[in-house]
Amino acid sequence: MKALFLLTTLFMMNTFSSEKVKVFICTDPKSQIYHYVEDCKNLEKCSYEIKKLDKYLAVDDQKRECKLCKDKNPSLEKKKE
Ligand SMILES: [Zn+2]
Repeated sequence: MKALFLLTTLFMMNTFSSEKVKVFICTDPKSQIYHYVEDCKNLEKCSYEIKKLDKYLAVDDQKRECKLCKDKNPSLEKKKE
């Protein structure tokens, strides 16, 4: 029972931390990438509106992580501490 409780807690912690991360997407219907920073070079090319949203929503929408700014993922920075 204790192990199950621990697993549930870990799962919940993961869910909460991913929900906190905000990402930026170009509303261009052809764009399938989400960005961690608003001033990403790839995002500058976007001629449509830039939208800020929760990361899990972008992932739900089958969007992929931008290779250029993925190092700026705030959840990765936390792990380095
Ligand atoms: Zn980017």
